Amino acid sequence: MQGRPKILIVDDDPLNVKLLAAKLPVKQYDILKAYGGEQALEKVAAESPDLILLDIMMPGIDGYQVTRTLKNNPATRDIPVVLVTALDGTDDKIRGLKAGADEFLNKPVNSAELTARVKSFLRLRRYQEQLKARSQTDEVFTTPDEAQNCLQELSGPASILLVEDNDRDVRLLQGYLESEDYRISLGRNGEETLSRVSGEKFDLILLDILLPGMDGFEVCRRLKEKPHTRDIQIVVITCLQDLESKLRGLELGVDDFLVKPINPHELKARLNALLKKKQYLDRLHVNYETALQYAITDRRTGLYNHGYFEHSLETEIKRAMRQSHPVSLMMIDLDNFKDYNDALGHLAGDAILKEIGRLIKNNIREVDLAARYGGEEFAIILPYTPPSGAVVSAERLRQRIARHPFAPEISLPSRHLTVSIGFAGFPDDAAAAIELVKAADTALYHAKRSGRNKVCSHADTLKASRVKLA
Ligand code: GH3
Ligand code: MG
Ligand code: MG
Ligand code: MG
Repeated sequence: MQGRPKILIVDDDPLNVKLLAAKLPVKQYDILKAYGGEQALEKVAAESPDLILLDIMMPGIDGYQVTRTLKNNPATRDIPVVLVTALDGTDDKIRGLKAGADEFLNKPVNSAELTARVKSFLRLRRYQEQLKARSQTDEVFTTPDEAQNCLQELSGPASILLVEDNDRDVRLLQGYLESEDYRISLGRNGEETLSRVSGEKFDLILLDILLPGMDGFEVCRRLKEKPHTRDIQIVVITCLQDLESKLRGLELGVDDFLVKPINPHELKARLNALLKKKQYLDRLHVNYETALQYAITDRRTGLYNHGYFEHSLETEIKRAMRQSHPVSLMMIDLDNFKDYNDALGHLAGDAILKEIGRLIKNNIREVDLAARYGGEEFAIILPYTPPSGAVVSAERLRQRIARHPFAPEISLPSRHLTVSIGFAGFPDDAAAAIELVKAADTALYHAKRSGRNKVCSHADTLKASRVKLA
């Protein structure tokens, strides 16, 4: 959502459009208007609004049809649709929810409730957009397999905590939800709810407002204030039909309301809509943080992998060009590692690689990026560092590794191991990422040829070859 969010108001009665627009803080939103179903679909295609407030009863294409059309089209499916209706019947609501509507508001619309709902939908919309942007970045690193694993973890039956002190209501609700694929747990009061959520993972809580001890609103407030429970969807069950308690709930972050006596169809439609929202949030948080991390990490050493290294080096060099600051690159190769591997076996070799990864990580700056380049080679990107600075880091790292006593179980002949390091700098030694890698690699080769356990710069290499030529 760039700039002000766009809200499309649709009603066949121009006066209703005007009235609704007047209830929104106009400075915060761009208000678009349509006076019939057909026009609404055209406006959506042309303007991609962030939210639609939609009348149901209209001549020609009615609100249900508009909703169905939008929700069946992948390009418009994610735009939240709020049906604004004079109809108060539950059947109409269910029909609307089945068509895919996200919410209802009854006419005459209460201004505070409208604003609160609009805000919460636009927040969700922003999540969706972040998710889309991120999944585009993810594609660069995530293989289909990894994405699949992650989605599998996320799916499975939704888990719902039902908090209700009245046995009859508990049985009733359980009966309604029996046929659905949910995992349902029961809670008796607010205190119990808070302790349950700290140990178990719930997607949604059906929460009675009137509970012994802490009331539902207080439970909600506490859940919504903590990052790890904030995404749990909360549906409040109440007998208090009055708007005031509804508004208070919205302020506290309640995600939806059901008023007793509860209609089973409405219950299911609401739960499914919220569970869909919860899935968005899960993907946004879990997918990004875990899957992406997984996809860019080398499993053996915990450092970044080759793919991420290449990507970062490109990015870093582009930034260096824009801001004209230097970047250095170090290439590190273990000396005579084949001998160790042959003598100790591959498992011991792997343990050594892991230990080296740890040593590297512990001996570089926070802004430096260390990766396993492949096999027993490592690469470190040093932003804002000219070759004169890189040599200091490289020399320190070489000494740290040479002095490091490896654990007896890895038991190298001497319990010590050395590395050779080559480094080069942008823009001194190279004009692009690929050239920088080549330059550092040449320097590494030079370090090996000069006897190993050495640090060489690309400049050293050039000097040496000039001497040879002369
Ligand atoms: P030099 O000093 O010239 O670099 O000698 P070297 O023996 O280290 O170099 P060479 O390239 O001949 O051999 C690298 C060896 O590293 C080959 C292989 O046994 C080992 N190696 C590469 N990747 C892994 C790995 O993932 N695990 C283990 N255990 N060993 C690896
Ligand atoms: Mg109408
Ligand atoms: Mg080697
Ligand atoms: Mg090698």
